[in-house]
Amino acid sequence: MGIRLGTPGVGAPVPAAGLLDSYGRRATDMRLSLTDKCNLRCTYCMPAEGLQWLQKDQVLSREEIVRLVAIGVNLLGIRELRLTGGEPLVRADLVDIIADIRSQHPDLPVSLTTNGLGLDKKAQRLKDAGLTRINVSMDSLHSDTFAQLTRRPFLDRVLRGIEAAAAVGLGLVKINAVLMRGINDHEAPELLEWAVTHGFELRFIEQMPLDADHGWTREGMITASEIRERLTERFVLTPDPRNRDGAPAERWEVRRAEAPDVVVGTVGIIASVTEPFCADCRRTRVTAEGKIMSCLFSREETDLRDLLRSGADDAAIALRWQEAMWAKPKAHGMDHTGLGAADFVQPDRSMSAIGG
Ligand code: SAM
Ligand code: SF4
Repeated sequence: MGIRLGTPGVGAPVPAAGLLDSYGRRATDMRLSLTDKCNLRCTYCMPAEGLQWLQKDQVLSREEIVRLVAIGVNLLGIRELRLTGGEPLVRADLVDIIADIRSQHPDLPVSLTTNGLGLDKKAQRLKDAGLTRINVSMDSLHSDTFAQLTRRPFLDRVLRGIEAAAAVGLGLVKINAVLMRGINDHEAPELLEWAVTHGFELRFIEQMPLDADHGWTREGMITASEIRERLTERFVLTPDPRNRDGAPAERWEVRRAEAPDVVVGTVGIIASVTEPFCADCRRTRVTAEGKIMSCLFSREETDLRDLLRSGADDAAIALRWQEAMWAKPKAHGMDHTGLGAADFVQPDRSMSAIGG
């Protein structure tokens, strides 16, 4: 691998190849947001109303997306792609985008993170287009709680989507859940029981300060250690012996307390706030309008769309992408004190506008 690089700017060394940063990490995992729009309004992500959508021409087109993925894979060492949003299923050309990417990169793992609405109707087409795997977000098995968290009464539709993804063989279906204190945190063992019974891998994500309402507090969030505590009411958790290999989730083997000899599944806990994994981060993010974010919590953004639309060649786009990643911060800064550092400033964008 390796591309010819331009002259580095003064004081801004440019890496030799790939998406290297100044702390020696190399990004190989591309998170690509396909839209900022969504049909749910999860309280920890979007506001109830009033979010301004991007205009259609501000969002990367199918062709621009496919080109960026090709630059990432062919020139910059991207080895894994996750499509996200907003809600990627609301994009009418999603199946075509996946098919285009698959035809150019037959071996690239391509996964999708979705809220599951409409997945029942699209799962087979996504599978046929070449999607490798799917993550569906679902925080509660109770309609009222689901509606409280998402501000929409659609739990049944999400469950139908999950069922369809499993039925068409979209790899190991992973379920993402965020626990909110006093709302669904008591459901942790129930969610895990449901997941292991159905053969899904559940992943709890610590609530991060990326909500549009800026309502996150360090005291209010449910920590990874509390999640483990709640799960051990019913289960025995032991560290998964497999190498974590840069994955954000720390995985645990799950045994039921009443039958501690039998592993019934695994559970992941993504503890971005209390047990951050910045030192081994391998992600590069592209927003729906073509901005590189070197970190989920970055306040710096680097535009690739203007280059894409101004006739720049692939090497020039790759170089700007490399420069953006070279400046990736060492860590997100929430963990300096363990209690939410005073110098941590919440990004302007909400999670839905970055691409989780
Ligand atoms: N709409 C899709 C979905 O919900 O799966 C994809 C985009 S969503 C931003 C991706 C993931 O981010 C979801 O699993 C969601 O639960 C998670 N998420 C959103 N806001 C979050 C926050 N403030 N803290 C932690 N996770 C969050
Ligand atoms: Fe939409 Fe996903 Fe954000 Fe929920 S978490 S509001 S489903 S983008």
